[in-house]
Amino acid sequence: MRRRGILAVVSGFSGAGKGTLMKNLLKQYGNYALSISMTTRLPREGEEDGREYFFVSKEIFEEKVERNGFIEYACYCDNYYGTPREYVEYQLDMGKDVLLEIEIQGALKVKEKFPEALLLFVMPPSAKELKNRLTGRGTETPDVVSKRLNRAILEAQGIENYDYIVINDDLEICTQELHSIINTAHKSVRRNEEFIENMRQELNVLVKGEK
Ligand code: 5GP
Repeated sequence: MRRRGILAVVSGFSGAGKGTLMKNLLKQYGNYALSISMTTRLPREGEEDGREYFFVSKEIFEEKVERNGFIEYACYCDNYYGTPREYVEYQLDMGKDVLLEIEIQGALKVKEKFPEALLLFVMPPSAKELKNRLTGRGTETPDVVSKRLNRAILEAQGIENYDYIVINDDLEICTQELHSIINTAHKSVRRNEEFIENMRQELNVLVKGEK
């Protein structure tokens, strides 16, 4: 019996280190697939089409929305971001745990459509550290940094909708914590109904057979 993958949604303030965390998780453990989103924002220096994102025009994005090609999509700081449907459904069927690194509006839409999804929120150790990380990236203008900090205030209001928080102070510890939460979720009774039912039937056969 192949276990079905878990849809793990990872959100967190811009600058909390989600991207590095996802890369580390993929590097260290074999059972993850990272969904690559589509966006209308321009690539940052060093980003590649098809690796960090599929970078597309607003027209192409809207066309895919029309075709129901996204599990969810949202507008974040003036740009569209969306999770392409096909890849996610295929990987879940293959038993992979699929990571969606998406912002909070998208996460809530995923939860509505897939109530069994696991919602994880990555926090920086402090607000001051968040600002340092955003400024230290050197890729964002002061205006963008300030937009993202304001957005963090909004996003902080929605954390109660998530299942777990992890604090990204030490990357290795945080990676292990995320992995162990996802792994534990596989052991929940709800995710093992088939195994439990088989056990019941086998027990019945065994006891009746022995009489
Ligand atoms: P960034 O521009 O920094 O790469 O991403 C901005 C925000 O958009 C981040 O919070 C990121 O998690 C989120 N994001 C990336 N892809 C998606 C997506 O497919 N859907 C949604 N709803 N948010 C996304």
